[in-house]
Amino acid sequence: MMDQAAKILREVYGYTEFRALQAEAIEAALAGRDALVLMPTGGGKSLCYQIPALLGNGVTLVISPLIALMQDQVRALEQLGVAAAFLNSTLDPSAERDVIDRLLAGELRLLYIAPERLLKPGTLNLLAGVRLALIAIDEAHCVSQWGHDFRPDYLALGALRETFPGVPRMALTATADARTRAEIVTGLALDNPSRFVGSFDRPNIRYTVHVRTDARRQLLRFLAERHDQAGIVYCMTRRKVEQTAEWLISQGFDALPYHAGLPGSARSANQERFLREDGVVIVAPIAFGMGIDKPDVRFIAHLDLPKSVESYYQETGRAGRDGEPAEAWMVYGLADVVRLRQMVDASSAPEQQKRIERIKLDALLGWCEVTACRRRALLAYFDEQREADCGNCDVCVSPPKTWDATVAAQKLLSCVFRTGQRFGAVHVIDVLTGKTTPKTEQHRHHDLSTFGIGEDLDAGKWRSVVRQLLVRRFLKVDAERYGALVLTPEARPLLRGQIRLDLREDAAAPKASRTRRPATGAVAPADQPLWEALRACRKRIADELGVPPYVVFHDATLREMIERRPRSTGELLEVSGVGQTKLERYGDPFLAVLSEFPAADPRLPASSDPVEEPDATRDLF
Ligand code: ADP
Ligand code: ZN
Repeated sequence: MMDQAAKILREVYGYTEFRALQAEAIEAALAGRDALVLMPTGGGKSLCYQIPALLGNGVTLVISPLIALMQDQVRALEQLGVAAAFLNSTLDPSAERDVIDRLLAGELRLLYIAPERLLKPGTLNLLAGVRLALIAIDEAHCVSQWGHDFRPDYLALGALRETFPGVPRMALTATADARTRAEIVTGLALDNPSRFVGSFDRPNIRYTVHVRTDARRQLLRFLAERHDQAGIVYCMTRRKVEQTAEWLISQGFDALPYHAGLPGSARSANQERFLREDGVVIVAPIAFGMGIDKPDVRFIAHLDLPKSVESYYQETGRAGRDGEPAEAWMVYGLADVVRLRQMVDASSAPEQQKRIERIKLDALLGWCEVTACRRRALLAYFDEQREADCGNCDVCVSPPKTWDATVAAQKLLSCVFRTGQRFGAVHVIDVLTGKTTPKTEQHRHHDLSTFGIGEDLDAGKWRSVVRQLLVRRFLKVDAERYGALVLTPEARPLLRGQIRLDLREDAAAPKASRTRRPATGAVAPADQPLWEALRACRKRIADELGVPPYVVFHDATLREMIERRPRSTGELLEVSGVGQTKLERYGDPFLAVLSEFPAADPRLPASSDPVEEPDATRDLF
């Protein structure tokens, strides 16, 4: 059986090897066992049920809450020559009839369905007359009330065990924590399931956090090298989403807002453009579930902080599902700390829930300030220990310096105390640096012993101290007093000189690089024309078929074509991502493009653009 699975992997999908745990999960399903599959986004969960579906006797039911994802998967399967369909509210009655006819005729291998639809008596009756091979429950964390995506319909899925006895069920999710995992097993009534827990590392994503100085300038510098790449920019509010999208357009980017306040038609039009065209940037509010499953998103930029490490992981996880290099970039500063702390304190949620939110927020803030490998810290949060530093995060690439901030912290804390714990950071810093303002005059603060005692540091450095003292809870924000800084009990030993405090030195803003480095995952300059030609070919085919380009071939597949320069269908078939059906459907046009670009003699130096040094920069990624 597993030989046949490997054959399908090769012939249908065009891949040579299973990824970690895929073979094991497939084996469990084929043996009729229940299974729980935990893999990060992009880990390759779909193959775990699709391959058993192709080998099994009967139809595989795939339960998914996200209608857009369903459509995407079905389109991708059709391109592989697999008979798949979905049943959901977007179908008109005749299309629906058609799907049901194919189902009853035993023509379908996979049927995607939303939980609320499945649970309707009519649907259950219909399925009672069909032979089921497997039930895959995607996004299985939706059954957990602890998680952020709870869907009551998922709770009813536990009954499938009785409704379809003997049909193995496979629950899949990218949510990692132990509590959610346990709730999935009980909530879905899985029968002594085999557990396949993959690493949650996303090695192709580079994590970078900058201290905010001028967010727009910083973003522009980041985007300068990414003009033709797809990405998502997250902002806190809807208003900021709108403004940022407008501003990006004015800067020459193809940016589109995406939020719940847009009319449905505008939203789906923007989504469609993001999926189908190259280089579209979506601007969306934080935590806005998008249900967009685009594998070639190259960057995620957070202009504001998400609300927890989980949300950060989930949002950045939308980048680089295709395994190609991708960036998770964020700016963060004192204002975020103050605002988020205030928001939690001022919220009307029950105290118990506020306590959890505080813990989660603190974990995120602490992560922003780490002075050791960010990836290790991120994985440790999900209870995954990683031995080595990653070499692919900002901390690894340029380790931050720390400085002995004991005296500075004492000055700041006593200044907060002397001014009566009634003022925010701006005023406290004015007093420290000896700046006379109407407010210092009004409160006679230049008479204080702490006025001007901090002249040795500039205001930016003081902001960094305030931020880190807040994160470490030597200070807190008084929500009832408009964000006034207040000492906590932890401040006392520090003020008395009983402990020493080292703080992170904020990195200076990087100078705009003179030499433009190739954007992440870009091809060598000499291959640029071929790359463009292959992408144009892909776009033409995709438009004809009415599917997004990546459904035809992923970037990685095009890149491999450039490397290997296949000249025959046999050679093309060896490229990863080229299976039998795709070869037959559109191998020829790609071969035609490739034949127009004969490979350069490798012994000759590549005629590269002099300002770019592809070899020197390659190991940056
Ligand atoms: P998930 O559902 O876990 O987020 P997907 O199933 O969408 O991930 O897979 C992510 C990408 O990895 C897809 O483009 C898929 O075709 C590709 N992929 C999956 N398994 C393999 C494999 N064994 N070899 C190469 N690519 C794979
Ligand atoms: Zn690292």
